[in-house]
Amino acid sequence: MIPNQHEVYPASVHNVGQTVFALVRGPDGRRLFLSSPVPGFAGDPLPSGGVLCPVSFANARALTKVFPWLSPQRVSSGPGFGFGDRLGLATPGHIRALREAKVFPVLAQQSVRENARTGRTFEDVLVHAIFGAFQEAYQGGFGADADHLKEVEDALHAADLGYTFFTCDPSDHVVAVERLPLAEVAKRFRSLPDADRLCREYLGREFILGGGGALRFTEQDLARAGVKYGGAVAFAVEMYRALVARLPQGFDFELSVDETETPTTPLEHLFIALELRRHDVALASLAPRFPGAMEKAVEWRGDPVHFRRELRAHVAIARAFGPYRLSLHSGSDKFSLYPILAEEADGLWHVKTAGTSYLVALEVAARFAPPLFRKIVRLSLDRFPKDRKSYHLSADLRRLPVLETLPDARLLELLGQDDARQVLHVAFGSVLKSPLGEELRRVLSEHEEEHYEALAQHLGRHLELLEDKDDGQPFR
Ligand SMILES: [Zn+2]
Repeated sequence: MIPNQHEVYPASVHNVGQTVFALVRGPDGRRLFLSSPVPGFAGDPLPSGGVLCPVSFANARALTKVFPWLSPQRVSSGPGFGFGDRLGLATPGHIRALREAKVFPVLAQQSVRENARTGRTFEDVLVHAIFGAFQEAYQGGFGADADHLKEVEDALHAADLGYTFFTCDPSDHVVAVERLPLAEVAKRFRSLPDADRLCREYLGREFILGGGGALRFTEQDLARAGVKYGGAVAFAVEMYRALVARLPQGFDFELSVDETETPTTPLEHLFIALELRRHDVALASLAPRFPGAMEKAVEWRGDPVHFRRELRAHVAIARAFGPYRLSLHSGSDKFSLYPILAEEADGLWHVKTAGTSYLVALEVAARFAPPLFRKIVRLSLDRFPKDRKSYHLSADLRRLPVLETLPDARLLELLGQDDARQVLHVAFGSVLKSPLGEELRRVLSEHEEEHYEALAQHLGRHLELLEDKDDGQPFR
């Protein structure tokens, strides 16, 4: 019944009424096979009477009508984990990484910037998450995060497509007060339209947090917070209200201020939380800029005692004014932080990863297609001066092993070396948009199982370390 030259993904076979649904793999990639035509699905009719449908947005949407668990959902109670997938091929591996972990997975998660770099769209990201879940017969529910939204229009577009999670990035409206003289900050504060109200509501007061902590603002603290985040709060309120009008049934709203130069202080967090509450913005999560070096695709560097203390204060605020989750962005490979996050945030956390799954894909290339991997490394090195912009990195090219003298059997070492990881990580757009992107996809599809297993292992290690070992009942 299924056409020649097509292999079936066994878990995807479902009988609905008289029709068999199955995901198949043929010479042109993945297709949805239907044993008889079904309204809403578009594809090529087969001599057998069946239909072979492309992996498209319209067909993904039709699929969610037949299998409601394939529709993106809001993050349920408990922690969340974002599995960003730059290639659109990783979802089955991400699902396998979940195993018994009690996190709510976000299987579609790319930012506007990532999509621009890879030439993808919000539609495309969602399509691959939905078909990936179908391929694995995954029915546990997942979210779809339109990440780092800097325009209200982009948020509404994602809402129309079925996204459930909106990460508002107000960084264009954040003022870098650290660079301004104190007198200038004070002057700017006085010119804010609600300066008087802020003084009345914030000064001379003690804000009591759970756990016996309390915070108070000095005039200087308030001026800095008001000038730094006043515009950001206004922008978040605008995006939130536009989303409420579009999605009255509800959605997850995250505010991300993680891409600032200096760490978000608990006082700044408190200011943001109070102002958002004043405007009835219900946060699902907030991504502060955490202390220490949070660089892409490598381990965190910093003082863990300080991190824990700051995190504890952020958690107390999130609990008192939400509760909402604390979101750890650039969360890939921060293995030393996960146990601290699990212990201190007690289920009120969300971790976002993306780059690390791309590096797992490159690992597959290094193992099975060394010449391709070498080409990818060379292109990444060429593009590094340009691609590194907009990222905080400490990669030093002089520490990289010399590619030309490195034998094939040792190519994997590059993926274990921090400088090389960062060079490879930031070049994802250059690689995926070049002809090498197509070659990489071909290698991954030839070694599909190995790709999924490598993802399951690597992301599974993230999830294991995020389990709270203390109470044995980690995620409530
Ligand atoms: Zn971020």
